[in-house]
Order: sequence, then C-alpha cells, then structure tokens
Amino acid sequence: AAKKSGRNNVMAFARSMGDGLSKRVELENALLHAVRNDLIVPYYQPLVDLQSGKILGFEALARWNQPSGESVPPCEFIEIAEEAGLITELSEKVLRRACRDAISWPADIRLAFNLSPTQLADKLLGLRLMTILDEVGLPTHRLELEITESALIQNSSAAEAVLSDLSEAGIRIALDDFGTGYSSFAHLLRFKFDKIKIDRSFVHQMNSDEKHRRIVQSILGLSRNLGIPATAEGIESDGQCHDLRNMGCDFGQGFLFSKAIPAREVQSLLPQPGSGSAPLMTHAWDN
Ligand code: C2E
Ligand code: MG
Ligand code: MG
Ligand code: MG
Repeated sequence: AAKKSGRNNVMAFARSMGDGLSKRVELENALLHAVRNDLIVPYYQPLVDLQSGKILGFEALARWNQPSGESVPPCEFIEIAEEAGLITELSEKVLRRACRDAISWPADIRLAFNLSPTQLADKLLGLRLMTILDEVGLPTHRLELEITESALIQNSSAAEAVLSDLSEAGIRIALDDFGTGYSSFAHLLRFKFDKIKIDRSFVHQMNSDEKHRRIVQSILGLSRNLGIPATAEGIESDGQCHDLRNMGCDFGQGFLFSKAIPAREVQSLLPQPGSGSAPLMTHAWDN
C-alpha cells in the first residue's frame, strides 16, 4: 500500500507540476499579449504632505485589467515579466504612459515610478529613461524613481553607477519598503537617497503594537539625522495619520487618502482651475 500511495503521490506531483507549468506558460503568453496591446496601464496613488494635507505627487502603480475581469497583482506579473525578459518593454510602456498623464497635471505635482531589480542592472537604463522623458517633454525634476533594497543587493556597484547618473540628471531616487530588506543602513551610506519610504508593515501595526511604533519612530529619527525626508506607506486610519504627523513624518500615502485610481480620476483630486487650493485629503487636518 505504501508503494502504491508513493506512486500515486508521484503521479499527483507530476500532474500538478504539469498544471503548474502550463498555467505558467499561459500566464506568460497572456502577459506578452497584454504588454504588446497596452493592456497594462498605470493607476495613481496620491503622495500627501502630512503637515499641510496637500497632494505633492502620485505614485504610478501598474494595473493589468484583464477582459475576464480577473486581475493579477503587480507583484506577480512584474516578477513574471522579469523572468520572461519582458520587464524593459513593460516598464517603458507604463512609464511613457505615466509621463504623458503627468504632463497634464500642475507643474509642481510629481510622478513616482517603481523600478524592478533587473532594471537596475541594465547599463542602458539611464539612456532609456532619459529618452522617454525627452520624447514626452517631462522635466527630470518631476520624476522620482522608487527602488527597493533587494534591487541594490542583487547588483550593487552597477546599480550605484546607474543611480548616480540618474541623480545627476535631476531625477530623484527614493528607497522603497525601507526596513524590510537586508543591511538597510549600508545602503544609506553608499547612496544619497532623496527619500526613505517606511514599509507599510510597520505603519500597519504602529497603533496596536508598541514595537512597531518604536520602529517607525526610529526610522523617522534616522531620516531626520540623515536629512532625508520620509514617507509613511500604507496609512489607513486617521489615528495613524495623526500620530505620524506628530512624530514629524513628512509625507504619507495610503488608503486613508486614496487607493490607486485611473488617470481620468486624478484631476478630481487636484486643485480645480480658479478654485485655489486642492481639497484636503482627510479630516485629520480639520482642526
Ligand atoms: P510599492 O511600490 O511598495 O507600492 C505600494 C503598494 O502598497 C501598492 O500595491 C499599493 O496599492 C499598496 N498600498 C498603498 N496604500 C496602502 C494601504 O493603505 N493599505 C494597503 N494594504 N496597501 C496599500 P500594488 O499596487 O499591489 O503594488 C505592489 C508592488 O508592485 C509595488 O509595491 C511595487 O513594488 C510593484 N509595482 C507596482 N507597479 C509597478 C511598476 O510599474 N513597475 C515595477 N517595477 N514595480 C511595480
Ligand atoms: Mg513604490
Ligand atoms: Mg513601497
Ligand atoms: Mg511595498
């Protein structure tokens, strides 16, 4: 019986492998089709100044809206795109579209854009990005690139060279998901980041767990000591927003303000011509 069930297990395993593989091939094909047909588009999540409540910019977050209504989250399709060699094409298309959208926003509103690890190993990255900015006419100072610590670990010296070039060109560089990777401090020594983004896992529990709160406080202390402004990711409640403001956190982002929205909805969050200032993003600034 043991032998039989062993063989059954192997068979089941082989079948599931087969299913896994063909599912994967199917996904890769669907992704290729989506990239070629511009079915992957940027949505935008506001970046808010926590002291004034005003919107300073938007982070472009890629969305793959499938005709079936099914949706594959970006962390999944970005990884597949990297492995399938599609990331450059995908990223360039999404960035071009995001820059075109950003051109129609007020000139002081910035565009934040995520780069994936393999992109930082690409010696042509700087040229590719500058070509798109040039073509669309978006000034470099309006673009902020977000990179994670894992991107730096995978190819540190090449990545540093690329980042320095971009930085010299006037593009801002933010360190994304801060605190979740390895040797965060070392990265801060080796490159002059323009912003630190505190990972939302810390923000999420800051009002229910004292340790999380203290880690948030420590990162804010570090940001102040180094003179690098901080953004808190994943703000979902007025309480978190209120406390982060009091702790001196500069910027914030999260569902409390807005989830990522399609391009056509961005205007409704911005100051309307003639009406002066933009709507404040939450009741937290009412008093
Ligand atoms: P990220 O750059 O750290 O982006 C923030 C993620 O947190 C987004 O998830 C956003 O929807 C989510 N988020 C924002 N506020 C809240 C909140 O209050 N609560 C919760 N629970 N979540 C919140 P999303 O859009 O699923 O993106 C996941 C990751 O995929 C991004 O993390 C980024 O690393 C990657 N990604 C997205 N778009 C692109 C892209 O165009 N290129 C590259 N290379 N990566 C991208
Ligand atoms: Mg990001
Ligand atoms: Mg992040
Ligand atoms: Mg994240």
